[in-house]
Amino acid sequence: MHAIGIDIGGTKIAGAVVDELGAIVRSERVPTPAGDVAKLEDAVVAMITSLAADEEVAAVGVAAAGFIDAAQSMVYYAPNIDWRNEPFREKLEARVGKSVVVDNDANAAGWAEFRFGAGRMVSDMVMLTIGTGVGGAVVAGDRLFRGGFGAGAELGHMRVVPDGLACGCGQRGCLEQYGSGRALLRMANEVADAGGVGRALAKARDEHGTLDGRLVGSLMMAGDAGALTALRELGHWLGQAAASLSAILDPQRFVFGGGVAEAGELLLEPIREAYAEHLPARGYHPEPDFVIAELVNDAGVVGAADLARVWVDEHA
Ligand SMILES: [Zn+2]
Repeated sequence: MHAIGIDIGGTKIAGAVVDELGAIVRSERVPTPAGDVAKLEDAVVAMITSLAADEEVAAVGVAAAGFIDAAQSMVYYAPNIDWRNEPFREKLEARVGKSVVVDNDANAAGWAEFRFGAGRMVSDMVMLTIGTGVGGAVVAGDRLFRGGFGAGAELGHMRVVPDGLACGCGQRGCLEQYGSGRALLRMANEVADAGGVGRALAKARDEHGTLDGRLVGSLMMAGDAGALTALRELGHWLGQAAASLSAILDPQRFVFGGGVAEAGELLLEPIREAYAEHLPARGYHPEPDFVIAELVNDAGVVGAADLARVWVDEHA
């Protein structure tokens, strides 16, 4: 049976009919109506109705950034949408006449990797999505880990530096401030300021006014020593965090997704190094492997659809 997955992002809503093997049968996308909750809901309903028109679908899964309850029903809080304790599942079910589940977007992407991508050979997996921020997903014993209230696996807000840099969550020293795309740009600027290997970064910054992900990425891929210095620093923080996560979760595999993960082995190498340095009781137990995510753009919709299918299977 097919299922529909909808991924509500900051700029676009992506939707697809997805088959049981994670393949997209058909897809649509529209801009996210920013700042208008009623229009956003209408856009999601219109997309579900359109996708379901010629397909037999078992259920609908919706992914969005935010805290969502463990019953996959209520959005406690969303950073980009004006939702506070929004009963989104109930509202959608009433309008589309199908079973709906709502999940956190990082959880949906992680679940897609676990089912159909880089995590499909293991039972326990941790995924870190390195975009502007750091998203997290945990699969433990073949199940997505949500926590008792649904707000678990926020791995980007694990504290890595006591009294460190201020974070958008209201705390200090979160991994997101040391392991995200935004952190990489800060590090690249610091390398540029220091001169020496930072010369090419400083030159690119002078020419373009500011350093962005694309500039730093292209210098990295060209083997520029300054850009690689910044990436190594980022990788070291991520590797340290992975060592702590291993002590808690003991996954067989760490998967890295998001824009920064396009650096591939250049990112994984410093992660593995720092992991080895910081792993508790190293040498006395098996160690996980570190890989790049495989599904990239479609992970959100594919994961959301599959989580809806899982829910129907378990509640039929
Ligand atoms: Zn934080």
